[in-house]
Amino acid sequence: MTAQIIDGIALSKHLRSEVATRAQALITKGVTPGLAVVLVGDNPASQVYVRNKVKACEDSGLYSVLEKYEVSMTEADLLARVEALNHDPAIHGILVQLPLPAHIDAQKVIEAISPAKDVDGFHIASAGALMTGMPGFWPCTPYGCMKMLESIGYNLKGKHAVVIGRSNIVGKPMALMLLQKDATVTVCHSHTQDLKAITLQADVIVAAVGKRNVLTADMVKPGAVVLDVGMNRNEEGKLCGDVDFEGVKQVASHITPVPGGVGPMTITMLLVNTLEAAERASN
Ligand code: NAP
Repeated sequence: MTAQIIDGIALSKHLRSEVATRAQALITKGVTPGLAVVLVGDNPASQVYVRNKVKACEDSGLYSVLEKYEVSMTEADLLARVEALNHDPAIHGILVQLPLPAHIDAQKVIEAISPAKDVDGFHIASAGALMTGMPGFWPCTPYGCMKMLESIGYNLKGKHAVVIGRSNIVGKPMALMLLQKDATVTVCHSHTQDLKAITLQADVIVAAVGKRNVLTADMVKPGAVVLDVGMNRNEEGKLCGDVDFEGVKQVASHITPVPGGVGPMTITMLLVNTLEAAERASN
């Protein structure tokens, strides 16, 4: 079997055109969806991420502003900036790019964002909403994974989904979203014993670890769907995921590539959340 590739670029293009259409409808009502992206310091990877996010907004007709601050910015000043954005009617979504410099308490800053503008979905209120099935913003990366499963018409009901990784931004919310769709979910982490025995039982595997080749072909049940969230570099410095793509694609029914898989979907779901925030604010 050679797996069908779930193309995150093509799916993103489709979803972003829907975002652009919905944004246009809001704009004609006098509301331009707006995202504020806040970057503190000069982390090179973060600079690339924020540029991509701002460009994606502009390409879909959303307003976006990038606020860049020196690494020496104090926590109090950042909290004051977030508070001002909470009250800015032109801004519907606020994203503070992580990681923040060590002298700033990132959790405190995230909790300062109004839940109504928490388009990253990292606020404790958003986590609580996801946990209880209430309306709120879902973290963009696992939300993108759900959209990828939806795009292939995959019915999760009664299926065994295995999530490798339990971070607050990917693994845990991923597990909750899968559970909400009636999958039976197993969450694995660095203390899991015999990962292979667990993944071999899975109908769906989401790898969100940050280590190359965490999932190899011998660990995958024939026909399983494999989503690769990982972002790593190989010996040649090329971007790669957590999954041995070449091997696993011989066994899985569907697989996401890296690059071109979950990555673009993460930014797309940020646009979706920002649009949603603007629609909610305008109602
Ligand atoms: P993280 O906070 O470092 O969490 C990694 C998780 O993997 C932890 O729960 C850890 O377990 C677990 N783990 C580590 N070694 C393991 C092993 N050998 N077997 C099983 N589990 C193991 O990372 P993250 O923020 O969730 O991100 C995960 C990966 O996704 C990274 O490569 C990141 O760059 C990537 N990512 C990609 C996107 C995207 O848009 N494509 C977005 C976000 C993240 P413990 O909890 O026990 O330590």
